[in-house]
Amino acid sequence: MGLLKKKLCIIGSGVAGLHLAYALKDDFDITVIERQSPDQIRKGRIMSTQVHFGSTRTREKRFNMPKWGEQSLLESIHITIGNQKLFVGMLQEPALSVDQRLYYSHSIKDLIEKGVSFRFEKIDKENVEVLIDEFDLLIDCTGKNGPLLPFPIEEALSPYQTPQRKCIVGYFTGIRANTPLGVSVTVLPGLGEMFEIPAITEHGPVTILFIMGIPNTELDVFKGIKNAEEFTLKMRSTVQQFFPEIHNRIDGSNFALCDESSFLQTALTPVIRKPYLMVNNKLVVGCGDSVFLNDPISGQGCNLSSYCAEQLYETLIEYKNSKWDADTGESYWNRTKQYVKEVTEWTNAMTEPLPEHVIQLLLQGAQDQVQANEIAEWFANPTKAFEAFFSATATVHKNNQ
Ligand SMILES: Cc1cc2nc3c(=O)[nH]c(=O)nc-3n(C[C@H](O)[C@H](O)[C@H](O)COP(=O)(O)OP(=O)(O)OC[C@H]3O[C@@H](n4cnc5c(N)ncnc54)[C@H](O)[C@@H]3O)c2cc1C
Repeated sequence: MGLLKKKLCIIGSGVAGLHLAYALKDDFDITVIERQSPDQIRKGRIMSTQVHFGSTRTREKRFNMPKWGEQSLLESIHITIGNQKLFVGMLQEPALSVDQRLYYSHSIKDLIEKGVSFRFEKIDKENVEVLIDEFDLLIDCTGKNGPLLPFPIEEALSPYQTPQRKCIVGYFTGIRANTPLGVSVTVLPGLGEMFEIPAITEHGPVTILFIMGIPNTELDVFKGIKNAEEFTLKMRSTVQQFFPEIHNRIDGSNFALCDESSFLQTALTPVIRKPYLMVNNKLVVGCGDSVFLNDPISGQGCNLSSYCAEQLYETLIEYKNSKWDADTGESYWNRTKQYVKEVTEWTNAMTEPLPEHVIQLLLQGAQDQVQANEIAEWFANPTKAFEAFFSATATVHKNNQ
């Protein structure tokens, strides 16, 4: 007779929870608890922007997660500073952006069909202990609104007390796509950034316009805007004023939000936590934004969540037949720590004025396609960005300029 499978509870079915549910479902008895039903998610407000780079797409394939249409693959990163377009760097592997409302609702339904148990309810801090007793392991994947448990803050990686950017996002039709298809990053020093991201939604292809405004500057001009019409008008005038290259590609009569819930304003304070805790002698872990919350400025949230989900999967498989305890938690943290540090320190540096040696690298990209491609790779492989921003070679390079 085989051993009974260990019982795991995953709270939250976002990028982290979904990766884990797919990865772990054959080895363990999985229950996912999610506060919204698939239909509520599908018909609800957009939650984010997202670009799944090559390594994340490889993990999605590894765990047999749903496949998405290949017609909107993102091949490149376009970089503009001020009004000067510097270059288009080509990605080594294509990326893809799928509206999380579609990705999450579809994946939940698929997991249910594959026999994974779901409970649709909101868990509060007060009722989480009952779940710790009920299951062999609780995994907190509640995202930026979490965590439900007091995972200790890593002070050295959590320097901010307030949000560094206002996030203003709309999913639009009526914008002619950039070519080659890719993510456009425009940096307006002192004001903030614009990310333009071609994406797939239930309504077909759209263009995401994502403004990251430095608080209380001229880009922070959406305060008090609550309805879709006002949002669209404000986006249009802001694009006209600050992002003329994008404005030139707007088709006036067709420019509209793809649905009335496809806009969002938010701001978050980045915070990194140690992703495990012992509660009543039982291990509890966190994965994704609930423990590793960065500013969206470097576009790494989904990719870091996916990376850490794979590391947690590897840890739990390694310790499959032993008791899960603080050693298991520490092993997971040891596997993830370095990458979390690299992503976080690079991301935090992106919210500050760009260092001079990085500006020089960007300017080189305008002259040299190899360098342009390397810079595009920063987003797909943030270790490279971390090295370019912080390593000794980057400094030597700077001194040799
Ligand atoms: C404006 C914005 C732009 C972004 N842009 C990018 C980008 O370009 N690229 C990128 O990679 N990342 C981006 N991110 C970050 C990215 O969205 C997140 O990192 C990613 O979604 C994290 O996945 P997650 O599974 O940890 O959390 P989430 O995706 O937030 O999922 C958490 C899930 O838990 C559920 N939940 C929460 N609390 C409870 C509870 N108490 N009980 C039950 N269920 C609960 C929620 O309903 C949700 O389904 C952006 C984020 C924002 C806010």
